[in-house]
Amino acid sequence: MYLGNLISSRGTRLQGIVCCHVVNACWLKLQWVCSLCCSIIKQGKCTRGSGPCLSAVGIFRANASAIVEDGTAEARVYCKDKQVADLLALGSVKWERLQQHIEPQGEVYFQYQGRTGHELVSESLFPLFILNPKCGTSF
Ligand SMILES: [Zn+2]
Repeated sequence: MYLGNLISSRGTRLQGIVCCHVVNACWLKLQWVCSLCCSIIKQGKCTRGSGPCLSAVGIFRANASAIVEDGTAEARVYCKDKQVADLLALGSVKWERLQQHIEPQGEVYFQYQGRTGHELVSESLFPLFILNPKCGTSF
């Protein structure tokens, strides 16, 4: 299946596997959140602002958005948790190491600002595979 098929079938539910090239990662959010209240866990402590929270159990959460293309169209994809490791092409050992590296700060946020650092990628919140139906676009 191609991305172009997904875009032309807008409105009908279509499921399949698309082989794509990642153009760029738009943003990336890596966090350790509290198992009880979902606030950020920093240095083993919950950082909840309203009243103390005694939990010290953190859950690692990863979210990312990237632009992909397969020669027929381009799309914005949203990934979470293990999918982010796949997007970054990180094996389980490196993924684990990245999580440990983030633990002291509690969270890390990356925003792509273009090759020059001045271009801003528009942040429209489409649910999954929708972006520019420009068929035949190549990079
Ligand atoms: Zn908490």
